[in-house]
Amino acid sequence: MRIIESVSGMQSAADGFRASGRSIGLVPTMGYLHEGHLELMRTAAQQSDVVVASIFVNPTQFGPGEDLEQYPRDFDGDVQKAGKAGVDVIFSPSGEEMYPKGFQTKVRVERVTKHLCGIFRPVHFEGVTTVVCKLFNCVKPDLAVFGEKDFQQLVVIERMTVDLNMNIRIVGVPVQREPDGLAMSSRNSYLIGQERHSALCLFKSLQLAKRLYSRGERNARTIRDAVIDLIASHPFTSVDYVTLCDPVSLEDVEVLERKTLLALAVNVGRTRLIDNCILG
Ligand code: AMP
Repeated sequence: MRIIESVSGMQSAADGFRASGRSIGLVPTMGYLHEGHLELMRTAAQQSDVVVASIFVNPTQFGPGEDLEQYPRDFDGDVQKAGKAGVDVIFSPSGEEMYPKGFQTKVRVERVTKHLCGIFRPVHFEGVTTVVCKLFNCVKPDLAVFGEKDFQQLVVIERMTVDLNMNIRIVGVPVQREPDGLAMSSRNSYLIGQERHSALCLFKSLQLAKRLYSRGERNARTIRDAVIDLIASHPFTSVDYVTLCDPVSLEDVEVLERKTLLALAVNVGRTRLIDNCILG
């Protein structure tokens, strides 16, 4: 396992791997690794010769008043876990290394960033696409692996990669869950006391929607109302959005005629959680 902290060090290591004919798989993360991240790393290891995991809590994707300062960190634990999941290199640059004095460039994807989380986190996706573009230029990967838990992020990255002719294969990995169904997330560590139980309302909502769908319900509003009622019956919760939309354009749908994304963002106490599933 190599740990690389400089952009130039990462670029020359990447050049070396490529010169020796080895393919590179990248898994971008913000650290505090859990089984969801490790599944991405195992997927990268199956599909590429060298696996690079980046660990970088990217300040530009956090808005004012969000949890940048308190975001959990455990670098030594992350190194251990990543090694066991088949990671060869950890790229962990500092904030100054990624955004040195004079930095002033942004990468913005227009339409698919305007829906779902983009409404509530207006600077988030610009931060994500800019840092992922930089990570691509540092690591020079053949493929990059992202989780479907952040479904919109995956859509945005796929769009950016196609639009900017990046020649990197984007691989999506299904949502990894705790035994009771809660989607794994570094932010689950914020949940205190009864909030952990209330957080299950996201998974229960997806199950309820799937049941309604399988019984023939095709009206988006009916499904949405049922989901909102279920969430409201759990203490400490407030909904940011419950949206049924097209999984490619992320435009709202009224009638479920083809594959539809159900995406949720719910605050449980002060913790903002997201989850999703495909209906149909
Ligand atoms: P993060 O460290 O939260 O920025 O996440 C890094 C990557 O791990 C992103 O591609 C996420 O979508 C993915 N990821 C996080 N949680 C999960 C999960 N429960 N299942 C699958 N992928 C996940």
